[in-house]
Amino acid sequence: MKVTLKDLTKRFPGRSRKDPAVTAVNDFDFEIPSGQLVGLLGPSGCGKSTTLLMICGLEKPTQGRIFFDDEDVTDIPPEERGVGLVFQNYALYPHMTVEQNIMFPLGNLKGEQKLSKEEMKRRALEAAKLVQIDQLMGRRPKELSGGQQQRVAIARALVKMPRVLLMDEPLSNLDARLRLQTRVEIRRIQRETGITTIFVTHDQEEAMSISDTIVVMKDGVVQQIGRPQDVYDDPNNLFVAKFLGTPPINVFSGSLRGGRLCIGEEEVFSIDELGADFVAASASDSADSGSDGVRREPGKLAKDAGDTDVWIGIRPEGFYVDEKGPLTCTLKGVEVMGRDVTVLSSHPAFDGETIRTIVDSENRPDTGRKEVHFRVRPGKIFVFSKETGERLYGSR
Ligand code: ADP
Ligand code: MG
Repeated sequence: MKVTLKDLTKRFPGRSRKDPAVTAVNDFDFEIPSGQLVGLLGPSGCGKSTTLLMICGLEKPTQGRIFFDDEDVTDIPPEERGVGLVFQNYALYPHMTVEQNIMFPLGNLKGEQKLSKEEMKRRALEAAKLVQIDQLMGRRPKELSGGQQQRVAIARALVKMPRVLLMDEPLSNLDARLRLQTRVEIRRIQRETGITTIFVTHDQEEAMSISDTIVVMKDGVVQQIGRPQDVYDDPNNLFVAKFLGTPPINVFSGSLRGGRLCIGEEEVFSIDELGADFVAASASDSADSGSDGVRREPGKLAKDAGDTDVWIGIRPEGFYVDEKGPLTCTLKGVEVMGRDVTVLSSHPAFDGETIRTIVDSENRPDTGRKEVHFRVRPGKIFVFSKETGERLYGSR
């Protein structure tokens, strides 16, 4: 089942001057391909839950339409949309057994859809097997771990074989280990059933690890849609670049001056050194590129650019320690974590406290020194507008 959001907007009216109106979801216009697991990702308050509630029918859009395949479901009540819902708090009925909890949605079926008790039990068992809790059918929720309770909630959402499965931060109440394990399970179940699934989370690592496609959102506005690795490698703007990745991207205040890229006042990279593919971000990324007052054309080399103040973002894995490298930082420490070595350093133009760079263990700096010199990998450095945060340049 393909899900299409067409110009979808949700505005909540303000209650007072201190609590003004919010546009929780602003003009969403994209398609969720059939059979995919799509992660809606963004900080708290960016409109993820509101989007999900509109798709399931519990919130009414202010504007726009929702389609399941070619069917316009915008005015169809939630119970007729064929969606399964899983929330952060599992909301199981405490007085019912696991089996009764899973069967519950089937009991609501009416008319010719009504099922016999045997058929309900059979379907509940099938759903329970899918999430591997079929041996726990006789227990009550309080006799289960958090992870098991969440599996019951997932089985309950699956029992009617929904056309679309919606999950709102389903792993947030689990401890770190269970979270990892359960996300692998969700991925497996999604693959096995092929149900189009929309998974909401504020945790970028979670979204990146299980999604076929991620939709990065901020303040009710979609920032970028793509395969997780593509969005990571090719961020549209500074927000997306900073939101994805642990440790996060290192951001420096800098400028583009003719053919040179400066961090602070130092010229640290010549564009020639970054390679011929260090070019302007493609115009197709955003219809309003150019509105930031910085002229750029797709494919245009950064070395032809006029002088501009910029943010320079470099991924932690984009640095090499090199005696002759152009970027000189003050060495603060070295952390060895198994295979990885993290070099901690500082620089006056760095936007933050500590620059974190990940290098190979053979490439670690001499900890006796006060300074460390770096070179960068061309594909790991991005240039963003200081005015708008839009990406101006990067490697292709
Ligand atoms: P998220 O799930 O990404 O954390 P939400 O979709 O819950 O974000 O909320 C998006 C914005 O809409 C927030 O500013 C929130 O305060 C506001 N909002 C959500 N629900 C309501 C509501 N029922 N009434 C008023 N404002 C709401
Ligand atoms: Mg939410």
